[in-house]
Amino acid sequence: MSAADDPAWRPETLAVRAGYDPAGAANAAKPPIYMTSTFAYASARQAKDIHEAYFDGTGPEVGGNGHIYSRLGHPNLDMVEARLAALDGAEAAAVFNSGMATHSAIALAHLRPGDSVVFSRPIYGGTNGLYTGLMPGFGVAHAEFTDGCDRKSVEAAVEEALAKGALKLIVVESPANPTAAIVDIAMVVAIADAVGSRTGIRPIVVVDNTLLGPLMQRPIELGADLCMTSLTKYCGGHSDLLAGGVSGKTALVAPLRLLRTTLGSHLDPYTSWLMLRSMETVHLRVERAMDNARIVAEFLRDHPKIAGITYLGFLAPGTPARTVYDRQCRAAGSTFSFAVKGGEPEAFRFLDRLRLLRFAVSLGGSETLITHPATTTHYALSPDERAAGGITDASLRLSVGIEHVDDLLADLAQALEAV
Ligand SMILES: *Cc1c(COP(=O)(O)O)cnc(C)c1O
Repeated sequence: MSAADDPAWRPETLAVRAGYDPAGAANAAKPPIYMTSTFAYASARQAKDIHEAYFDGTGPEVGGNGHIYSRLGHPNLDMVEARLAALDGAEAAAVFNSGMATHSAIALAHLRPGDSVVFSRPIYGGTNGLYTGLMPGFGVAHAEFTDGCDRKSVEAAVEEALAKGALKLIVVESPANPTAAIVDIAMVVAIADAVGSRTGIRPIVVVDNTLLGPLMQRPIELGADLCMTSLTKYCGGHSDLLAGGVSGKTALVAPLRLLRTTLGSHLDPYTSWLMLRSMETVHLRVERAMDNARIVAEFLRDHPKIAGITYLGFLAPGTPARTVYDRQCRAAGSTFSFAVKGGEPEAFRFLDRLRLLRFAVSLGGSETLITHPATTTHYALSPDERAAGGITDASLRLSVGIEHVDDLLADLAQALEAV
């Protein structure tokens, strides 16, 4: 947060204001783009002080705006990080050139051979690949749970992981992509605390907040240590860039920034500037998309050719998922799955008939996107992993956009005739 920001401002205000102070940039009301790879030092003394601040976190340049080389950090990156931290209600944030670069940095920062990780399922395909494909090659074991509202199910995964090695990370995706399955974040934090007192090693709890985004769910307030977000989705919001971020206490975020310098996965100045701009309107886009999503979800729920729908607004009162949802989510979001009656042939016929809805992976854009998870986003998973995550051959994932809802309904209705 820059000196000009008031932490009491509400998220909608912080989304427009936080992170940029015109006084530092020729009083330009909007931020310039600093298209430079390197930064000139004012003096030899200052160069030394800036390096001391960067590498040791001490000396007169701490908190200053000195920069070295853009892979280590640059002004537009500082702005996005300050804005993301403000939106997440966190001390600090680190921003990367994709959501997966963010997940990878978290894994590489905290996991060493002999360690283990627990994650929730379903989980994003890339995160699944990271923990079941890449990290085992570095000697990191994993265990999974599928019912994130059931303490016994999470504890069983934790015991399995502890039996394989020191448990360092618990990675939770909630709501989960693509089924919107809910994990009780506060419960997972309590379980992590219990592991800490028992073993002396407190696993870090990471929440992937991509599906709802910073305005609709605040994992840091729920006790999570790190809040990870694919900024490619709702925050970017126009399906025209890739970015990711993670927020939390400075002590946890600072090592991720240092690691980013080694990995070379910083967000470049132009994309950082675009992201800062997108964040200003994220609440407007998300609110309209959610209004549309409710109407589309009601239409699908009542349609005779639909077999089921996972829209969060329909969680039955009294169920564990609904209780957790009411406690931890501010709204139902605009991404959910539904199943057509039948299987892959019916789903394919429906997709090929759509005219307005775009058949593409990704979510959280201004346009409505639809995909068939089993053969696209979750293609690389084994059939068992897909089944465990509730993904069938008839499942379709919908990310509702900000078009006029009547046009969306008309397109869905005509395409469902093909089922
Ligand atoms: C898209 C996505 C990611 C990965 O983000 P990228 O920006 O595509 O690298 C991670 N988690 C979830 C839930 C996602 O939807």
